[in-house]
Amino acid sequence: MTNALTFFEPTRTAGLERLRNFAPDAGRHYGERRNYLGTAKNPGAVSALSPYLRTGLVSQSEVLRTVLDQHSAKDADRYIAEVLWRSYWQGWLALRPSVWDAYQADLKRLHNAVQTQSGLRQRWENACLGQTGIAPFDAWANELAHSGYLHNHARMWFASIWVHTLELPWQLGADFFLRHLLDGCPASNTLGWKWVAGIQTIGKPYLATQENIEKFTEGRFAKVPGLATQAAPIPAPPHPDRMPLWNTGQPDPALHSGLILHEDNLNPTHVLDAAGPIAGHVTVMATADQTPWQMAPHVQAFRGQAAQNMQNLLADRIGPAGPAVTSALALKQWAQDHGFAQLVTADAPVGPTKALFDAYDRLPDAPPLVRMRAPLDADAWPLATAGFFKFRKHIPALLARLS
Ligand SMILES: Cc1cc2nc3c(=O)[nH]c(=O)nc-3n(C[C@H](O)[C@H](O)[C@H](O)COP(=O)(O)OP(=O)(O)OC[C@H]3O[C@@H](n4cnc5c(N)ncnc54)[C@H](O)[C@@H]3O)c2cc1C
Repeated sequence: MTNALTFFEPTRTAGLERLRNFAPDAGRHYGERRNYLGTAKNPGAVSALSPYLRTGLVSQSEVLRTVLDQHSAKDADRYIAEVLWRSYWQGWLALRPSVWDAYQADLKRLHNAVQTQSGLRQRWENACLGQTGIAPFDAWANELAHSGYLHNHARMWFASIWVHTLELPWQLGADFFLRHLLDGCPASNTLGWKWVAGIQTIGKPYLATQENIEKFTEGRFAKVPGLATQAAPIPAPPHPDRMPLWNTGQPDPALHSGLILHEDNLNPTHVLDAAGPIAGHVTVMATADQTPWQMAPHVQAFRGQAAQNMQNLLADRIGPAGPAVTSALALKQWAQDHGFAQLVTADAPVGPTKALFDAYDRLPDAPPLVRMRAPLDADAWPLATAGFFKFRKHIPALLARLS
């Protein structure tokens, strides 16, 4: 096991404490210093809240409210915008879910290619093990594998070197991140990698430069020879047309109900407030389905312990625990064994949890599954119709609705 869980304790208390400590710096200080490199141990000017946001141990709304209690929206505009990038990417993917399906299909193909093409396998292994000879890249590969976290700028540089200098497929890099990041998020990760590759904002790849790395690592990596100075165009299909968001619902509080906690939201207060008494609960753990390789043990440990922590904190509201569930069939079996008339849960964004819920909905005779979208997601996702610049104009209205 790595030391990721010593940097990120998987409890809501630890997440709230991190938020409390960070909030005074969420104003101009963050805006001025956020691009300077931090690490899991010393995040520097950034909050390192992402593992807590990813699992719902701390919600985006809680973070935004806490920051706005201490700063004006103008002073904290940079931090607020970053927190809402998460909603933007999730909304963008929710409106175009086939982008995730295409990435998953590409991964299966590349998994096969890595098994059968020794040249590709060697280059991919060298990159994942931090043995390329490019000093900062190798350091970040090791840092990610050991801490489960990378600063945003390191993610951008790493992805750029992976795609444009090492000329490895972006999908393999996205998978390496998703297997090791404690905050690994299908939307932010897939679309972040596509953005670096120049196929998200089409024709605008991100190129890491020696000068930029030297400046923002404050000289730690002063010489980085050999970086690509041009990005070869990467073939990719055009963005698919937008789809309507999938239906969510409202639980019937009079029905005998089971609750589902899951890795995308372990603290579904909006569901608990709307549903009647909960007679029992399970935790759905589906992220192993998102990769043909193994998830890093620290990611599974973080999420498992985070789930346990929230089960303890919510114990008097969610009834007895059932088994951890990893398939739609097992979920149906649990629901039927307990005679539930409905299952209730927080809506999950595009990714493996949603895929499991969609599979459950297709099973005959399964009790209905009611997914409730968190209020911020319900407000923000439909707005991700075009680029972030357009989305950003809605931020004042989104913040007004928070209160
Ligand atoms: C190639 C690549 C892959 C990425 N993969 C992920 C991922 O799997 N999961 C993930 O949460 N973020 C991802 N990001 C976005 C960003 O790097 C992280 O959210 C951020 O580094 C988390 O650290 P922090 O909490 O200290 O961020 P802070 O700067 O303190 O920001 C606060 C919060 O805002 C959100 N946020 C900040 N920047 C972004 C951004 N660019 N996009 C989306 N949300 C953002 C995060 O929830 C973050 O916790 C990726 C970025 C790139 C370039």
